[in-house]
Amino acid sequence: MNKYLLLTPGPVNVAINVRSAIAKEDICHRETDFDLLLQSIEQKLLKVFEIEAVDDYRGVVLTGSGTAANEAMLSSVVGDKNILVLSNGEFGSRLHEISKIHNKNTFVLEFPWGQRLDIKIISDYVTKHKIDVIAMVHHETSSGILNALESIGALAKANGAIFIVDCVSSAGAEAIDVKRNNISFFSSSSSKAIGSYPGLSFVIGKTVEFEKLKNYPIKTAYLNLYKLYTFLKTVSQTPNTPAVPLFFALEQALSNILKQGVANRYAELRCKANFLREGMQILGLKFLLNERDMCSILTTVHVPAYIDVDVLRQKLRDKSIIIYEGKGCFKNKMFQVGNIGEVSFDDIQFFLDVQKEILHSFNQQEDPKLTLVTSRKPFLTSIQDVLTPPALISVETI
Ligand SMILES: *Cc1c(COP(=O)(O)O)cnc(C)c1O
Repeated sequence: MNKYLLLTPGPVNVAINVRSAIAKEDICHRETDFDLLLQSIEQKLLKVFEIEAVDDYRGVVLTGSGTAANEAMLSSVVGDKNILVLSNGEFGSRLHEISKIHNKNTFVLEFPWGQRLDIKIISDYVTKHKIDVIAMVHHETSSGILNALESIGALAKANGAIFIVDCVSSAGAEAIDVKRNNISFFSSSSSKAIGSYPGLSFVIGKTVEFEKLKNYPIKTAYLNLYKLYTFLKTVSQTPNTPAVPLFFALEQALSNILKQGVANRYAELRCKANFLREGMQILGLKFLLNERDMCSILTTVHVPAYIDVDVLRQKLRDKSIIIYEGKGCFKNKMFQVGNIGEVSFDDIQFFLDVQKEILHSFNQQEDPKLTLVTSRKPFLTSIQDVLTPPALISVETI
């Protein structure tokens, strides 16, 4: 168990109580047990995203990874209208690809990977074309850039457009102010900064906007947001059989965030990212972005000229550490190191020590004093830890 230390943007090493929650009990999703579970998850989601006017927003949970939530938004909220997708990386392109499947009036503005969205270009485009929906990615995971929501949200508002945001990799790590940023709907998944297993995703949106979907054409059966919303509103269930064990795990992961406190959670992640970044800088590694543009979940690093990135990843894997390789135009040029999930400062230090050793083996001219690395402390001290039941959620004070 926990063979690997996952220093990736997801999936992540989950907390022990999340691991046990998944095997909590067998319930039927057409019974009150599930209604209560779903209600509890929705309430916790709204709390995690600091949504105070709870009646004004709803959160639907879907069985399906983050892409399912994105496809649910893109297939349900555009109708026959015009949608503009903003893209500065792999996940922006994926929004565009998904939108093209469902919406014939899909427009796109593409910016270079790793560069900020240009509000002037976007604003000119929106005024020239009649844009009804604007879609973008909050944290563009492929480069690690945290795109600013406020200016685009204000632009959407000024043009009477719906604003939808893919927050798959930022939710749980960065504040998402739905109200201030005028967000109509945003999506995320269970397996990134939220800290649970892969397989569930959710869409949080304004109640009035969910209501408006009633008259929209139905483009998908499974991912129809209006249907998901109607089931939630009327019977507190999902239209189809949900992955119930994953719902237990998600509820526990949300409880963990709330117990720690959302602000503390963000601060801890920021602190870990800083620790990781300082350590990598000391090793002479260079980052793709300025720190002020980075999210606190991962760091995108230039592959040094003297390194073969596949060998680097294999050597890390030999020490049970998994990092990401660059995607698309960053392939072989960048690698990515995450710091979400059950990753301790000791784990990050362990990674830095191993990294130092590997870099030295690549670059024999250098002569750093080598710290010999022993094996990483296991997460779980005994099988008892795994079997300890999770704290009862219903009695937890949040
Ligand atoms: C991971 C990710 C997705 C896709 O999520 P899956 O769970 O792999 O379907 C979408 N958008 C962003 C920004 C992501 O980081």
